[in-house]
Amino acid sequence: MLPNIAQISIFWIVQASALLVFTTPFRWPLLGLWAVSHFLRAVGLTLLFHRYLAHRAFKMNRVARFVWAAIGTAAMQKGPLWWAGHHVNHHKYADRDGDPHSPMVSGFYYAHIGWFLHDTRHDTLEASNPVIRDFGIAPELALLERFFIVPPIMLAVGMYLAGGWPWLVYGFCLPTMTLAHATFAINTVNHMFGSRRFETVDESRNNPFTAFFAVGEGWHNNHHRFQRAARNGFYWWEYDLTWYTIRAMALVGLVWDIQPVPARIYDEARAVKHRRRAQALPSVVDAAIPFELADEAE
Ligand SMILES: [Zn+2]
Ligand SMILES: [Zn+2]
Repeated sequence: MLPNIAQISIFWIVQASALLVFTTPFRWPLLGLWAVSHFLRAVGLTLLFHRYLAHRAFKMNRVARFVWAAIGTAAMQKGPLWWAGHHVNHHKYADRDGDPHSPMVSGFYYAHIGWFLHDTRHDTLEASNPVIRDFGIAPELALLERFFIVPPIMLAVGMYLAGGWPWLVYGFCLPTMTLAHATFAINTVNHMFGSRRFETVDESRNNPFTAFFAVGEGWHNNHHRFQRAARNGFYWWEYDLTWYTIRAMALVGLVWDIQPVPARIYDEARAVKHRRRAQALPSVVDAAIPFELADEAE
């Protein structure tokens, strides 16, 4: 385990290394490389760490599980069990004391980055945490958890060997920074800015901007309403790349027992929408009545 100061320094050095794009002449293929590195590792995080480990939204082939876990770990957001274990606590205490990252409880900076850097010893999760308890016994996941720094190093070295400095910058430095903020934004932006289809007890919101960069996770109010569902975009027009990947894997038999969004949740969404329309109606009518008529009516 790396000491605190080393982990914190590495985090900030990698963040700052994104500035190296200004030392590298831009070419369109490099933007493609950024996209592959950002979005592929994003799916590793969301499909495996989030929807599988934290929410058990489907079952999957063990080899595929390891591959996605390794891709997710290459995102440099610590180990899969640490990540998912904290996420379980986020839902358990959402926007209340005990939530590891709530902008309502601890302010924007701590909820965005501070919480992630604070726990460098990996010792804030209980052994009874369901992720640790049930997935910590899988030796391949425990190995990734212990050596979580190895996949990012392999990615960085591989990029450099494949394409030199430009590939290192556009295939590792820049996308590792953008992916960190795309992920962290779900904890902050999605608890502050966006729409609330469901009236959940937390402050979760749906936001199409974060949904794009975090491959579907931006439909966060949907997700807080029904965490178990494999899809976070509950409707076809809610872009959810992670969901499309799960569907594609199911087609070839790598994923099964996919948890759907129950009909009662769609009914609830319709009911909330109708109630809000009904509540909005009187004020619209009031506004349409000229002052004189309104006075007469009183
Ligand atoms: Zn949340
Ligand atoms: Zn979740």
